[in-house]
Amino acid sequence: MKTEKQIRAVVFDFDGTLATLNINFPEMRKAVLDLIESYEIPVDALSDLFVLEMVDAAETLISLKCPGEGNDFVQKANSLITTIEIEAAKKGKLIYGTRAMLSNLKSRNIKTGVVTRNCQSAVTCVFPDINMYCDAVVTREATRKVKPHPEHLLTVLKLLDVTPEYASMVGDHPMDIKIGNDVGSFTIGVLSGYSTSNELLQAGADIIIHTAANIINVLP
Ligand SMILES: [Mg+2]
Repeated sequence: MKTEKQIRAVVFDFDGTLATLNINFPEMRKAVLDLIESYEIPVDALSDLFVLEMVDAAETLISLKCPGEGNDFVQKANSLITTIEIEAAKKGKLIYGTRAMLSNLKSRNIKTGVVTRNCQSAVTCVFPDINMYCDAVVTREATRKVKPHPEHLLTVLKLLDVTPEYASMVGDHPMDIKIGNDVGSFTIGVLSGYSTSNELLQAGADIIIHTAANIINVLP
């Protein structure tokens, strides 16, 4: 049973888990869909995807239709996404108790990491001293595949030098729970972000806590 293992590392999602950013995802999706349509690509088949995956899929379609324009599209799309993320980060803040909780884990020799689809600039805008509190921070620029692909979490765990069964994944979104379960880690849902307790439990969360700061009370 994974719950009986001594936890050696805790990996956190960022937005909604360690920080409140309030990224305007509908605005972001609309901006990217409008950009895709400007290449005369039909967007119906793309509109159910998460926005980063939408960019990947559209790049393939645009490269087929207009050879050589895929890179240009990706740069424009990334610029739109990053602009919205940084705008949100400027108004964002760390969730109460985040630094104290991370220090507490460090004092117990539990390594800490962050796995986020957000960009590095937005993360450091909200949490400039994050590297003093976290042993590994893997933003989307630092991984080939972003979560919910398991490679993103495995990249963090490799940097932490901890195998998945000795790690706990903490997040506010069902994809955080899925990625944790997919690699075989203990999964903890938090209610400080976008999901309800039921949604996180349905995604397979082992436990639910109110905010990430409460983790210090539930780890052995
Ligand atoms: Mg989140």
